Amino acid sequence: MEERIITPISQKDDKEELTIRPSRLDDFIGQHALKESLKIFIEASKKRGEPLDHILFSGPPGLGKTTLAHIIAHELGSNIKSTSGPVLEKPGDLAAILTALKKGDVLFIDEIHRLNSVIEEILYPAMEDYEIDVMIGEGPSARSIKLTLDRFTLIGATTKVGLLGSPFRDRFGFISRLNLYSVDELVEVVSRSASILKIPITRDGSIEIAKRSRGTPRIANRLLRRVWDFALVRAEGNITQDVADKALTMLGIDRLGLDELDRRILGIISTDFGGGPVGAKTIAISVGEEVRTIEEVYEPYLIQIGFIKRTPQGRETTAAAKKHINLK
Ligand code: ADP
Repeated sequence: MEERIITPISQKDDKEELTIRPSRLDDFIGQHALKESLKIFIEASKKRGEPLDHILFSGPPGLGKTTLAHIIAHELGSNIKSTSGPVLEKPGDLAAILTALKKGDVLFIDEIHRLNSVIEEILYPAMEDYEIDVMIGEGPSARSIKLTLDRFTLIGATTKVGLLGSPFRDRFGFISRLNLYSVDELVEVVSRSASILKIPITRDGSIEIAKRSRGTPRIANRLLRRVWDFALVRAEGNITQDVADKALTMLGIDRLGLDELDRRILGIISTDFGGGPVGAKTIAISVGEEVRTIEEVYEPYLIQIGFIKRTPQGRETTAAAKKHINLK
């Protein structure tokens, strides 16, 4: 059972989204090595009759970090409470959450690299010794009392593990990075979601969507829905490769899954900065986006497909990128 304390991203509350989100490890596609380790980790904790050690997942958005946190709670038969770094502002809020956790409960903190340092300081003893210090009263009569917590499991998710200090990272017993998905894995994601949502789609249709989903299941699911809209209006509801291609092209998503902003990023590095190197900040200002969005959302895929190289001096575009955007 999940109790949602706050919902950081409204899309995650979307009912449809919840029906297609896998709830068991066996339904979670790809990430094989990680899944194997998690299976052993969960099984061992069950055998020992002890709560799981704290877990940290990192990787670009939409790869399944939140989904895994829910799956773990489900596999353990535990309750899960969800919150996120930027909204957990006050020590009192965290204390209220922590003291309400029962033995074996999972506390999921999304964007954990965005917690403020005061909150982080409270989390350290909570994670390590299952204790927190709470201030009672105000002014000269204020005093601090120690509260003992039940043994819970913290699952943190971050798009930027480097922003977590090492004392914080060291308190996690299991740290894993999620990688971008292969086209084959995304074909599975699309086919699985289509079958749950009863969307008629051919195998070639699934492949076309998978190829244009930038290695990301969330994007694959989103594109499936947009292509379905198009198919309902223009093609009597059936998604073939041709329908998928037309729909995605209309949405401005090219054959490699790049959208308008990707192409602008590549264009700016290639033309305005002669191929680079250029810093992420400059790129962000030029396209009017936050540096974080460029680094965490756009860059991983552009690097993966070999269009951008990261050097100590900044980002450079490759010959393949220039060819793609017709700038030989
Ligand atoms: P993150 O927390 O990393 O941003 P989510 O866990 O919210 O990503 O994943 C986004 C959506 O993508 C999920 O709701 C789920 O439907 C789908 N998804 C992610 N990973 C997988 C996977 N391995 N197999 C099937 N669906 C997945």
